[in-house]
Amino acid sequence: MYFEIREPPCKSDAPPQVNRLTLDPDAKRQLSRWIFVRSNVGLGLTRIYCHKPGMTISIRPHHLLCMLTYLGKGYTPQFVVNYDKIVDRINSGEDIKIVNGPDDICKPMLSEADCHCHNENVLGRDAYALSQIVSVMGEDARAGHVLHLSPERITKLRSRFRKGTLRAACSGCQWQEFCTSIANNNFRHCRLTGVARSMKSKTSDDA
Ligand code: SF4
Repeated sequence: MYFEIREPPCKSDAPPQVNRLTLDPDAKRQLSRWIFVRSNVGLGLTRIYCHKPGMTISIRPHHLLCMLTYLGKGYTPQFVVNYDKIVDRINSGEDIKIVNGPDDICKPMLSEADCHCHNENVLGRDAYALSQIVSVMGEDARAGHVLHLSPERITKLRSRFRKGTLRAACSGCQWQEFCTSIANNNFRHCRLTGVARSMKSKTSDDA
């Protein structure tokens, strides 16, 4: 005989993961006893675990700007692969969580010898970005805040970026000219699109 252990689907549409466990009669007896004991002391079995850790995408504030001009190019192939996945997830409707310091985009760079993700000037870039993004979106965006990036929000941020009123964080960045040319080219071929929520939550989000 076998048991099926189904891990529940989380926020994604992925089907539940099914693990089959074949048991001989001895093991079956032991498992029955274990289930009895565990359920009687109120542990584990009724608790639901998510099999996909860290489902909310972590983003540091200045990367909210960098994503506006992301074309699928970056520091290393690993960096680009990871960045592409993050943008795809946002474009599929996943929310983002604002964090202080290194985020999911930084991850492939953290083991590099010249990693700059913890540097003071980069943290300062986050602070500048945060204050301007809050004023554009009219919503709190401090660490821990969860945001939905709808197409309307992205358009609004891009409009301010192109006008230059959302560029304080870009001061001193080596990519400044490049990002300006992308903005002046109307963000053509940029990968971040976002996705609208259902009409109900969209209305409350964008009110
Ligand atoms: S100029 Fe630098 S900080 Fe500004 S959006 Fe481009 S890459 Fe990001």
